[in-house]
Amino acid sequence: MAVTRFAPSPTGYLHIGGLRTALFSWLWARKTGGKFLLRIEDTDLARNSEDALDAIIKAFDWVGMSYDGEVLYQSKRFDIYKKYIQQLLDEGKAYKCYMSKEELDALRESQMAAGERPRYDGKYRDFTGTPPEGVNPVIRIKAPTEGTISFVDGVKGDFCVSADEVDDFIIARSDGTPTYNFVVAIDDALMGLSDVIRGDDHLYNTPKQIVVYNALGFKLPKFYHVAMINNEQGKKLSKRDGATDVMEYEKLGFLPEALLNFLVRLGWSYGDQEIFSLEEMVELFEPKNLSKSSSNYNLDKLLWLNAHYIKNTPNSRLADLLHPFGVDIREHDKNELLLDATKERGKTLVELAEQIKLILHRPEAYDEKAVKKAFKGDAKEILAEFAEMLQSWEKALHLPCDYHEVLEKIVETKEIGFGKIGQPLRISLLGSMTGSGLDEIMSIIGVEETVQRINKAIA
Ligand code: GLU
Repeated sequence: MAVTRFAPSPTGYLHIGGLRTALFSWLWARKTGGKFLLRIEDTDLARNSEDALDAIIKAFDWVGMSYDGEVLYQSKRFDIYKKYIQQLLDEGKAYKCYMSKEELDALRESQMAAGERPRYDGKYRDFTGTPPEGVNPVIRIKAPTEGTISFVDGVKGDFCVSADEVDDFIIARSDGTPTYNFVVAIDDALMGLSDVIRGDDHLYNTPKQIVVYNALGFKLPKFYHVAMINNEQGKKLSKRDGATDVMEYEKLGFLPEALLNFLVRLGWSYGDQEIFSLEEMVELFEPKNLSKSSSNYNLDKLLWLNAHYIKNTPNSRLADLLHPFGVDIREHDKNELLLDATKERGKTLVELAEQIKLILHRPEAYDEKAVKKAFKGDAKEILAEFAEMLQSWEKALHLPCDYHEVLEKIVETKEIGFGKIGQPLRISLLGSMTGSGLDEIMSIIGVEETVQRINKAIA
């Protein structure tokens, strides 16, 4: 039973990279019947954590992910962190450091001038003298001075840094507030995490966090550092590459299942399989199959997946989903046909809505080029005759095949090729040469509207 977590810093919206690591953690918890916990890393009090939580919950709701238990706010846990700082001080595992900023800067500069990696030199590590006056000390933790700090990462494999790469880092600032790596280690331990799955931008934080775990006698979780999502050019994904906020994808007309399917494949694979339902992901996900190399964001792939999910979504749900996109066909008596005729033509709900509007609204303008090409010779007369035929047809016209019969009839009586009527008819109905099948369109809008559109076009 895995206990995992998502620990976003409150940026006000949920980034797709964040959703991806959250998804991996969520899948692992659900697969093992464990727990998926949520922690808001809001120790920087200037940022508004309520908004961040709202944004995350909204995004989790939209994609259908849920978290367990109470949300933990780091900003409300300062007392807990203080207690552990005191414990480390009492046990001699941490100490007060009175080095001023100027002194620290000078030390850094001289180290860099000597070609060394800048690091705190341990001046106050064993200090017993009288502290300098007027300096509010920071608290530093005693990191190992020799050997290595190592762990086995579930994605990267053996990971090891030499002790001199980790200095006695600050765990509490001079104003008493605890630092990032300190609180993360404490919370991950107290929340009982078995597995920490996060972006590999945190890889080099882990040795520091391990120093904290060891100092406090906490058991280490298993770490998985997932490679970043890059843009199509292989560079770090940024806002310039398109939407990064999860909820923007809803507005762009993506289905949540397509986005999750897209994200899960950016860093995880199962043979050659590309399409995964959420249930399947839960069943098949194993963090050991997380990929070592970074993956590239690919909009075409996302659109392809979205088209697949749109095509396979039941019409009643599609009708609901389309409502925010300006088409309300929930009560339309031909909504099944309307969706069947259009759902393969939209890669997003926005595009699908456009296709539907194209059918439901009488065209206001016509594609001139197409008109020139299609309305040649006696096209208008043929259309007029077709309109006549529709109105005087003996059998009631309902289904697409009924309309098809009329089309066949005119082709036969006029001894013309299908294109001769098909092209001008399409322009009359839709205003251009794109769009769904003619039989379906006529069946959806009915005889009267079809005739009106023809009359308007040939007027
Ligand atoms: N709050 C960190 C972030 O948003 C994540 C910390 C972690 O996963 O350990 O990048």
